[in-house]
Amino acid sequence: MSKRVLITGAAGFLGSHLCDRFIAEGYRVVAMDNLITGDLKNIEHLFHLEKFEFYHHDVSRFVHVAGDLDYILHFASPASPIDYLKIPIQTLKVGSLGIHNLLGLAKSKNARLLIASTSEVYGDPMVHPQKESYWGNVNPVGPRGVYDEAKRFQEAMTMAYHTYHGLETRIVRIFNTYGPRMRLNDGRVLPAFIGQALRGEDLTVFGDGSQTRSFCYVDDLIEGIYRLLLSDYAQPVNIGNPDEITISQFAEEIIKLTGTSQKVIYKPLPKDDPTQRQPDISVAREILNWEPKVNRAEGLKITYDYFKSLPEEDLYKKEHNTFEGYIKK
Ligand code: UDP
Repeated sequence: MSKRVLITGAAGFLGSHLCDRFIAEGYRVVAMDNLITGDLKNIEHLFHLEKFEFYHHDVSRFVHVAGDLDYILHFASPASPIDYLKIPIQTLKVGSLGIHNLLGLAKSKNARLLIASTSEVYGDPMVHPQKESYWGNVNPVGPRGVYDEAKRFQEAMTMAYHTYHGLETRIVRIFNTYGPRMRLNDGRVLPAFIGQALRGEDLTVFGDGSQTRSFCYVDDLIEGIYRLLLSDYAQPVNIGNPDEITISQFAEEIIKLTGTSQKVIYKPLPKDDPTQRQPDISVAREILNWEPKVNRAEGLKITYDYFKSLPEEDLYKKEHNTFEGYIKK
């Protein structure tokens, strides 16, 4: 019998790519999502498969899965700054109550659990690039605190189950990732810029655009996660692409890629927006023999083609009416 894996947040950007990968590897996949930020369109191509089941469920409530489970991957959470500003309590609940439920499930099934953590545990980092050994610089009561602290708690809780109960656990710290199935209007910088270019609007750079990010193509990230799950390494591992770029340069790249004649306009910088971010991936290189393979030009081209292929009405779907609450200092 093939192995069985539970993926939470399965209808989301990363969760849906994980479903594809585990199906391709021959696993039986139990997918779970409350569909607050996820979209069934991302996994509907899997519904006819016997090896695929879907449960519409919020993991912040008690989680029951009948039968055996070998692995659990916890990817349920709002992940865009605008999303978690809009639903802060749910964000805190899925990182705390949600992980507690899943740890309990993992213990009862004797399953290995991997959690999606984040570069946000480093906050606005004082150490650059960020190594796993850095403890971070997070404002617990700032707008991003609801996400950052939920993820930090999630790591602590997971580690406690590992040391106290001997549960097999894995922690991946995910840096900015992009690719097909990101939501066009989720507020994150890449879909924001491409959406603006496609609508013929100016590109909105927040602040002076000197803040940096390092963007990893989704296939590379999924490969790193897959290797980490199957490794025997229980400490946190950064997975991301160290190729760092300022947001201004990034806007210029999108202008070139899309051929838009629009220009860059500047908007206020959101409160607590990290000034720099670049993963140190020496642990992933050494332990997992992993490094990213897709460069930004290739990855952006695939992602742009995906966004162009969406129905035109998606371009005008208003998910977020305003950035003001987030931006206000
Ligand atoms: N950003 C921007 N314009 C936008 C959206 C985001 O300049 O329309 C900036 C944002 O202020 C941040 C960076 O792009 O400095 C990345 O933002 P994102 O929301 O994608 O994710 P983050 O890395 O901040 O979690």
